[in-house]
Amino acid sequence: MKFSDTFPNVKSFAEAEENQILNLWQGLGYYSRARNMHFTAKHICNNLNGVFPSNYKELLKLKGIGEYTAAAISSFCYNEKKAVVDGNVFRVLSRYYGINTPIDTTAGKKEFTKLANELICEKNPGNHNQAIMEFGALLCKPKSPSCKICNLASSCIAFNKNEISKLPIKSKKIKQKKRHLNYFVITDGETLYVEQRNKKDIWEKLYQFPVIETKDEVFETPENSISNLLTLELIDVRSLKHILSHQIIFGKFWLFRSSKNLDLKNHIKCVKFKNIDNYAVPKLIENYLNEFFQLIN
Ligand code: SF4
Repeated sequence: MKFSDTFPNVKSFAEAEENQILNLWQGLGYYSRARNMHFTAKHICNNLNGVFPSNYKELLKLKGIGEYTAAAISSFCYNEKKAVVDGNVFRVLSRYYGINTPIDTTAGKKEFTKLANELICEKNPGNHNQAIMEFGALLCKPKSPSCKICNLASSCIAFNKNEISKLPIKSKKIKQKKRHLNYFVITDGETLYVEQRNKKDIWEKLYQFPVIETKDEVFETPENSISNLLTLELIDVRSLKHILSHQIIFGKFWLFRSSKNLDLKNHIKCVKFKNIDNYAVPKLIENYLNEFFQLIN
C-alpha cells in the first residue's frame, strides 16, 4: 500500500494516527522522518491554512527540514536559486576542483556550499541541482567513477593528479556502537506481549517485545533478572543482528511459553497474533516475527 493511496492529501495525513503512519513506514528506517512529516503536516493544516511554504526561508522553519531539503524543495518546485549540497555534490566538487577541505567540518560545509551557490545556473537552478546530483550518483561515483567517458576529465583536477580515490576527504570515521538487546517473547500460542519504545533513542514510538539491554552478550538464561518469568518455560533462544549507520544491534530473543495471563507492567500490551500487524515494529523485530510464526506453526 502506497502512502499516496492511504493519504491522498495533507489533511488526511495530518489527521492520521502516528502508529498508522509508522506502520506504513515500517522497514524504511529513519523513522524520525515519518514523525517529523506528520508533525509538519499538522502544523501546515492547523497554523498555515493548509498552504505549503513556497520559499527556502519559510521551508527552513518546518520541523525536519534542514538546509539540504529546503534547497531541494525550493529549487525543484519553485526554481529558487539555492544550491543543494549532498554527498554527490560534495564528491563532484571536491574531485573536479581538487578541494582537500574535509567535507564533515564546518569549514568544509561552508566552502562547498559557497562554491555550489556560485556555480548554480541562474535560469534553471532546479534542473542544475538535479543534474549535478545525478552526475555524482551515476558517473562520478564513490568507487570506480566513469572518468573514461566523463566530459569533464580534461579539466578535472583529481583525475589529472590521480587523486580520485582520496577525494572527498572526511576527518572522522563513523564509529559503530555495539548494543545487546535481550527481548522477552512471551506467548500462550495466541498472543504476544509488546511495549512501545518511548525513550529518545533509535526506533522511538515503534513497538517491540519487553527488552533488557545488557553491556555484553548474555550467555545464560536471564530468568534471574526477571522474577515473574521464573515460572515460564523457555522454548527457544535465537540471535539476530541488525546494522544501522551508527549502531550494530545484537538482538537475542528469549521465547517463553505462558499458559496464563501475566501481570506485567501497565505499558505492556497483550496482542493477538492476528492483530500484530497493526503495530509498527523495527525491521529487527519484523525479521524475528517471520521466524517466530514459522517456529510455532
Ligand atoms: S573525471 Fe572522473 S573524477 Fe573527475 S568529474 Fe569526471 S567522473 Fe568525476
